[in-house]
Amino acid sequence: MKEERYDVVVVGAGPAGSVTARTAASQGLDVLLIDRKQEIGVPVCCAEGVSNAVERYIQPDKRWICAEVKGANIYSPDGTKITLSGSKMEEVGYVLDRKEFDKALATEAASAGAEVRVKTEVYGIITDGTHKKGVYVRGMDGNTRIYADIIVGADGVESKIGRWAGINTHLKPSELCICAEYLMCNIEIEEEFSEFFLGEKVAPRGYAWVFPKGENCANVGLGIGGDVSKDKHRAMDYLRAFVHDKFPAGEVMAEIYGAVPLSGPLHKSVSDGLVLVGDAARHVNPLTGGGILYAMQAAEIAGDVIAKAIHEGDTSEDRLKEYDNRCRSEFGKRLETALKAKEFFFRLSDDDLNTLAHSLEGINLKELSTRALVLELIKRNPRRLVDLAKIVL
Ligand SMILES: Cc1cc2nc3c(=O)[nH]c(=O)nc-3n(C[C@H](O)[C@H](O)[C@H](O)COP(=O)(O)OP(=O)(O)OC[C@H]3O[C@@H](n4cnc5c(N)ncnc54)[C@H](O)[C@@H]3O)c2cc1C
Repeated sequence: MKEERYDVVVVGAGPAGSVTARTAASQGLDVLLIDRKQEIGVPVCCAEGVSNAVERYIQPDKRWICAEVKGANIYSPDGTKITLSGSKMEEVGYVLDRKEFDKALATEAASAGAEVRVKTEVYGIITDGTHKKGVYVRGMDGNTRIYADIIVGADGVESKIGRWAGINTHLKPSELCICAEYLMCNIEIEEEFSEFFLGEKVAPRGYAWVFPKGENCANVGLGIGGDVSKDKHRAMDYLRAFVHDKFPAGEVMAEIYGAVPLSGPLHKSVSDGLVLVGDAARHVNPLTGGGILYAMQAAEIAGDVIAKAIHEGDTSEDRLKEYDNRCRSEFGKRLETALKAKEFFFRLSDDDLNTLAHSLEGINLKELSTRALVLELIKRNPRRLVDLAKIVL
């Protein structure tokens, strides 16, 4: 078998992998970024919504921004509409084109000096006792052993790298959100608003979304709890019913199925010579299912810690723990609160959700954020939401 050697091998060229590769390469490391996909970013498996905080990680570019969103409409089970928007709104959301966005990030990694290789699948890791020494890959030119000081598992929700390294990445069905989505065209939507629909009939233990992509097209999808998905009640069954009801004349341009980890971050996402980033480390907001920005935030930390560890010649788990600690202090609390809030909201019935929505009727929240919405709900329903207040305040 052929053999190669790098300082760092990054498995997965999604946002987590590309930003880790970019950060590590820009600190002088010899980095290989690989993905089993034939084309980076394809197929898309995402609703593509992010806040403008994405600009912290990459300069905005029309090539990967499909739409700018100025607000959100949330519909309770009885159809009561709550609007988050306003002329003074500071936070603007984007609907991305992930095909282009993921490529732009991988291109930045390449510009920083990383080597990028597609159609290359990792099928195992090379270990020497407990220390991880590299990966086995299958590519166009056959199988290769790739040795590296550090392996980065940025291989998404189905991550195998962590499991192979002996890290407990197991997710219970209740910790997974099972999603189905159509890219639809020829539909009537509010082009500058994202829309969210709640209720047992629409998406049990989840929600449905409509994210505008411009020119009467949108990502129309939903996610349901993995523990309530069953025959005739799968995410795709709910999506068909939703689309039949809301957009009967719409045309489906693409069908997307996928899962989002809602467990909150792994307690431990490093081991000797190995780091997990993004969905692989469960860096996802458990309340909203958003993972793109957390993947990029964690990836910058990972790239930085990896560079320091390699330059110091210590790639042990103890040295790499700095990564887990920094992730915890930068966004751990936020994800922990979101996890508890999710559990609170999942216990509410449709009647409870309607009552809460009625309490907000007529208001126009000036901030496009889940936190602003939750705080307003608590202000208007202090007795009913006493337990939620204990979680978020
Ligand atoms: C339906 C759906 C809608 C979503 N909507 C949103 C949203 O609107 N906003 C948001 O913020 N988040 C959303 N998410 C979550 C978001 O997509 C993820 O959090 C984000 O993509 C995580 O990035 P990542 O780099 O960790 O993983 P990924 O983007 O999944 O990238 C992992 C990469 O690893 C590669 N790979 C896996 N195994 C191997 C292997 N063995 N060898 C080589 N390569 C491998 C894969 O091909 C893939 O390219 C959504 C998820 C789903 C499923």
